[in-house]
Amino acid sequence: MKISLFQLFKIGIGPSSSHTIGPMLAAGSFIANLKNLSLFHQVQKIVVELYGSLALTGIGHGTDKALILGLLGEQPHLILPESIDAQVTKVRQSGQLMLNGEISIPFDPQIHIIYLRRKTLPPHPNGIIFRASTEDGIVLSEQSYFSVGGGQIAISNSDGTQLTFIEEAPEVPFAFSSGDALLRLCEEKGKTIAEIVLLNECSRNKSREEVFHYLDEIWQAMDASIERGCQQDGVLPGSLKVRRRAHAIYQSLKQKQEQHQGDPLTVLDWVNLYALAVSEENASGSKVVTAPTNGAAGIIPAVIRYYQTFIKGSDQDGIRRYLLTATAIGSLYAGNASISGAEVGCQGEVGVACSMAAAGLVAAQNGHARQIEQAAEIAMEHNLGLTCDPVAGLVQIPCIERNAMGAVKAINAARIALGGDGTHRVSLDSVIKTMKDTGNDMKRKYKETSRGGLAVNVPLC
Ligand code: SF4
Repeated sequence: MKISLFQLFKIGIGPSSSHTIGPMLAAGSFIANLKNLSLFHQVQKIVVELYGSLALTGIGHGTDKALILGLLGEQPHLILPESIDAQVTKVRQSGQLMLNGEISIPFDPQIHIIYLRRKTLPPHPNGIIFRASTEDGIVLSEQSYFSVGGGQIAISNSDGTQLTFIEEAPEVPFAFSSGDALLRLCEEKGKTIAEIVLLNECSRNKSREEVFHYLDEIWQAMDASIERGCQQDGVLPGSLKVRRRAHAIYQSLKQKQEQHQGDPLTVLDWVNLYALAVSEENASGSKVVTAPTNGAAGIIPAVIRYYQTFIKGSDQDGIRRYLLTATAIGSLYAGNASISGAEVGCQGEVGVACSMAAAGLVAAQNGHARQIEQAAEIAMEHNLGLTCDPVAGLVQIPCIERNAMGAVKAINAARIALGGDGTHRVSLDSVIKTMKDTGNDMKRKYKETSRGGLAVNVPLC
């Protein structure tokens, strides 16, 4: 289990973990390196080159803003969403940037952020190069980063064939690299998946209380994004002028409730609402939790809120079990396939979130390990081949509705798994391998480039 709970679920700003959180963290890492090399105070110029998907959809996904904020010294989990526009506008208008809040350098985003749309930087489609130089043009430092999905950043080896996470999670006592190994561990140790993950997290210098505190913090941030999304009305940022829907749906559902109108499928309306609310918050650049990415941030919260509201006996422990179990499933995808839309299409974002949510929901309801593995498998099996084709490069169409569809599918997958004894034909490992192979075979235009699918078939005016 290479990826920890703390890496998989991160509080940050939307609309895209790989295109906003990753580049922002990469800027912070570059500054930290300059400081370590005692070069920081000589810097007079910074140029950022964006490659592949970051160059193609970077403007719609807010990569330019994220880079400016990262260079200003902001961090995704600490930034105040309401301060973002003012900070970015100040840099754009003045042509000056206060690097890490300490030294002022000339910076014009139109000149100093370069979009190399026809180039990629091996080995990953989301490459960034930062170059710092003196006034005379002497290069002080140059560093490549890769935003590999879910806000994780990595650097490559010298021949560009292998990636190393910047934050590599330390080894754990109950390591597993496949679904089968995880099931074996549960059987041998007599533990649930959630207990295995908890023990691993505690081995990384965290107490049980700290892990529980983080789990509760994540859920509170998710819950707050549902609440905010239900209150906000109006139009989302960007050229599409997409109208927010969550607010109106919320008002209508409340009215229905007051009038006691019986519709057996109203539960689905609520689940759709929760997912739309978070996804609209994400699209507006507000605070959400990567789960495992920002584009798919609505699914896991929507299914937790469904558990909390509609499942008898739901409690805080159930939510903790849910998130710990979802971490195990997410880490299998991150380790054996990908959670990046630019690498494997939307099956790596909405597909993985759906699989994590289905597994989490079974765990919350005290399903056993084989039922959890089955739910995770079903949820991904029916997302295989899902492409990433955001219209106008914005994380809005098809992303927002896709979260609602993913949440409903996750609940259904959990119900199918809970209705059986865990015996099933297709293993989670097989479906993860299939997802990876399908992603490799997928044409590049369907991998977060906005050059295929809905992105070219939906008129923009
Ligand atoms: S289509 Fe899916 S992978 Fe692509 S930006 Fe939207 S949510 Fe992310």
